[in-house]
Amino acid sequence: MAWPSVRLTRRLWRPPAEANMTRDLTIEGITARPGERVRGQISVLELADGSTVQLPLVLINGTTPGPRLYIGAGIHGDEVTGIALVNRALAGIDPQTLSGSVVCCPVQQPLALVADHRLPISQYLKSPLDQAPTDAWTCFPGDTDGNIAQVMAATLFKLIRQCDAGIDVHTPTRGGRYVPIAILPHMNLGEAAQKAERMAHLLGTGWIMRGDRGMYVSDGILCVEATKAGVPCLTFEIAEGGRLEEDQVAIGAQCVTNLLIGLGMIEGNPVPPPQSHVMREFIGLRANRGGLLVAEAPLGAAVKAGDVLCRILNVYGDEVETVTAPQDALLVRSTTLGSVSKGERVATLGLL
Ligand SMILES: [Zn+2]
Repeated sequence: MAWPSVRLTRRLWRPPAEANMTRDLTIEGITARPGERVRGQISVLELADGSTVQLPLVLINGTTPGPRLYIGAGIHGDEVTGIALVNRALAGIDPQTLSGSVVCCPVQQPLALVADHRLPISQYLKSPLDQAPTDAWTCFPGDTDGNIAQVMAATLFKLIRQCDAGIDVHTPTRGGRYVPIAILPHMNLGEAAQKAERMAHLLGTGWIMRGDRGMYVSDGILCVEATKAGVPCLTFEIAEGGRLEEDQVAIGAQCVTNLLIGLGMIEGNPVPPPQSHVMREFIGLRANRGGLLVAEAPLGAAVKAGDVLCRILNVYGDEVETVTAPQDALLVRSTTLGSVSKGERVATLGLL
């Protein structure tokens, strides 16, 4: 893959004369002066005990013109590696030499982080009907008069709309593990989607999903609605939910740094991936039998039709199912659960 030059990528963004980046950056009453990094909190909603859910915010305002990049993580509460990797990437930014600015919300759903679960599960258990929809990630552009997930999404969307581009960092939920992968919004979303695609290459994960069906390109998803609103955005998945892994934090932070370099916001040399696979579709494979799950193919493997991906053993140790690849593909997401029931996902393949 050829790496676009900084000069080329800068043309993605509005000319410096309009960028207005040498002024104070004020977001929701929090101000960062040129050359400053500021932490703050946004009050979102009141809980039953009178405490307030606070969204953490980091503003980094550069000293020269450039794009304003939104970086979000932790909209699902067990995706701690995503939180850690954006903080690692931000730590490497010198506001004095930054071109443009960064608006970062490292924990986009604090109630889910408190629950250490994908969802704010305590709220859901209390009132399942009122709390549906429960996942803020699927509730964009949100509703300030809606339930918790919708209010949270509306608050985040207001931040995102004030930016020129965005990236939403995830890991799979517990029990799943992804290769580092940039997942694009639907390509029928016009110029903003094309910019998101350029950003996916700049990110340098080595794995890009450019599909037109499934959850990630559906209405309501953060990156889809941002891109529809003219803010090119992509989803970045990496590692595994519920675990904080240093090697994955380092890889993910390097990818975000690659993007910042590619957008011309910081100086440096991006670290390109050893390979770059652009895929067109995910295929989720589900168990037909219940039992213990034994992985066979390594994550990231290029598999051929008929290759064994995993095996399912019953409680007596007998192999009751051998899961094989239905066609040539890449194993982009593996299930790390020790047991599965019929119908649970055991692997996800990416088709080239
Ligand atoms: Zn997620």
